[in-house]
Amino acid sequence: ARPIVAIVGRPNVGKSTIFNRIVGDRLAIVEDMPGVTRDRLYGVGEWLDHNFSVIDTGGIEIEGDSELLKSVRAQAELAIEESDVIIFMVDGKAGITAADSEVAELLFRAKKPIVLAVNKIDNIKRQDDIYEFYSLGFGTPYGISGSHGTGLGDLLDAVVGSF
Ligand code: GDP
Ligand code: MG
Repeated sequence: ARPIVAIVGRPNVGKSTIFNRIVGDRLAIVEDMPGVTRDRLYGVGEWLDHNFSVIDTGGIEIEGDSELLKSVRAQAELAIEESDVIIFMVDGKAGITAADSEVAELLFRAKKPIVLAVNKIDNIKRQDDIYEFYSLGFGTPYGISGSHGTGLGDLLDAVVGSF
């Protein structure tokens, strides 16, 4: 089976944007599990000679779980269970938020490789915005831009390097 890569992070950091960039139109058809809607959340990614499944965890709607932090937590837990590698995505324009720290705490307990992606690094002047994210404790932050597609190569090198 293909390795599974989950994109995890609080709402609005750009998970779906990056998912679409990685997957393009290679969406996978999956049956819903009880209590979880997951149409259009799985796709197939390709990088170098690797094929992998990608999950956009932000689109997972967990029934009866409407509170923001509760649902972010549930999505992260699902991703931790199901994936082989996790892309932890944060927003370089917003900086570290309480919800990011919440996700970080859960991911610390995951015995899975985690690659930290700092999205919305839209130009070279914003590159310095990645440094504060070292403090999350997941090593090198990879600056990317979902708007422009920049930085994705280095991020995916790190992802497939941890299979
Ligand atoms: P999600 O909630 O994590 O899935 O985030 P989305 O992919 O829906 O993106 C949230 C918002 O951020 C949208 O308005 C996107 O257009 C915007 N966005 C995504 N990537 C970038 C980026 O690289 N730079 C900027 N400036 N905005 C972005
Ligand atoms: Mg989304």
